[in-house]
Amino acid sequence: MAKTKLTFYGGVNEIGGNKILLEDKGTRIFLDFGKCFSKRGKFYDGLSKPRLVNGIGDLLVLGVIPEIAGIYRPDLLALCGRTAKEERCVDAVVLSHAHSDHAAYISFLREDIPVWMGRMARTIIQSIEDERNSDIEFEVTRFKERPIKPRQQAVQRRIHDFRTGDSFNFDSIKITPVHVDHSIPGCYGFVIETSEAMIAYSGDLRSHGNRGQLTSDFVSAASEAKPDIMLCEGTRIHEAVNHSEGDVFATCGFLVKQARNSFVFADYSYKDIDRFTTFFKIAKESGRKLLIGVRAARYIQAVRGCDPKLGVPRVDDETIGIYRPRETRYSPEDARFYDAHANVWGCAEVKSKETGVITSMSSYSSDELIDIRPSGGLYIHSTSEPFSEEGIIDEERTRRWLEQFGLQRVNSHCSGHASGVELAKIVNAINPKTIVPIHTESPKLFRVFFGDKVRVVEDSIEL
Ligand SMILES: [Zn+2]
Ligand SMILES: [Zn+2]
Repeated sequence: MAKTKLTFYGGVNEIGGNKILLEDKGTRIFLDFGKCFSKRGKFYDGLSKPRLVNGIGDLLVLGVIPEIAGIYRPDLLALCGRTAKEERCVDAVVLSHAHSDHAAYISFLREDIPVWMGRMARTIIQSIEDERNSDIEFEVTRFKERPIKPRQQAVQRRIHDFRTGDSFNFDSIKITPVHVDHSIPGCYGFVIETSEAMIAYSGDLRSHGNRGQLTSDFVSAASEAKPDIMLCEGTRIHEAVNHSEGDVFATCGFLVKQARNSFVFADYSYKDIDRFTTFFKIAKESGRKLLIGVRAARYIQAVRGCDPKLGVPRVDDETIGIYRPRETRYSPEDARFYDAHANVWGCAEVKSKETGVITSMSSYSSDELIDIRPSGGLYIHSTSEPFSEEGIIDEERTRRWLEQFGLQRVNSHCSGHASGVELAKIVNAINPKTIVPIHTESPKLFRVFFGDKVRVVEDSIEL
């Protein structure tokens, strides 16, 4: 009972789906409780979903989520016939960042398990929840008990915010979050002290974004703690070549200027604020308007409101246009948003100024091309995270859309994850006694880099 124990219910030998149970002297904390896109993807695509009528029963039977008594919502268990009362057996979840592969399946956890998350992660998650219509797989900060009855109120989870500089305790476990650089704002690694060990948890990180210094701060804090064990992400440990956000800015900026008489369509994830800022700066420097969708606009507004120091531009900046697609009827929120902003663009305006814009609606909005009908142009593919919630990109279908409208494709992207070289520098600087590869399909490559210090785990370890 006294020993510190780590049990990996997800996130080892796979990318994402981190669900790491930390136990110390009877206290039990989950580090992340994410959705594993590869496990789920064996049975479902981006559109198909587990049957709501069976609660979480389908996901349990298929092994997409782990069978653990005392953690799941009683309403979702009752739907699959499990009505016996279960005692709560986990004290808290501590979330590293807002990406679905770390956060989404908190949705299934019982409401009396409190959740600790960074203030920005909370803002981002709530912004995503606001855009979705009761999606059982993304109800992280609030949920409606199933089956939903008329006028039913949402249950608000107990959320505790943190930021860098805070520390908090769960009995003998002390957690210190330290910010890291990654492809979404508000990401943390953790330095964790238990009765038996010091642990460093990387979360997802890199050094090559616009704020690599954040990762340096984590590395300093983790190295000072002299960790016995480091749980280290290795998504791209096999990648030697690295592009930085600065490279994406330089490359795409050059290409947009070169294509000065052409329509430009930039395909990137707006949740990656660095990338949004990259295309904003490119639009500004090239004298174009950056057209964004209403969801992106609300997200950018929320992030800017949460942390003005990030330098995120206002959505009514003169470089930004908010694209209003043709609809038979707008939702009240969308209608209000369009009414409240003067920089709203419809397809006719885009068509009349097609060489003066960078459209950056997501690839979902490729059907807008039918209305805009560009006369050829440049398509910049600037995303590639296969486990992002945008899910699987159908390359063949994208190719047909581009061909239909005469758009020529170029690729320019930098990953949210450290390359092998960056990881080696990070791990060398932290110098843990033991390294456990997580969030990777190449755990054995850690052995090549870090030798006997590496412990490739399948299920659990005791310290
Ligand atoms: Zn991840
Ligand atoms: Zn991530």
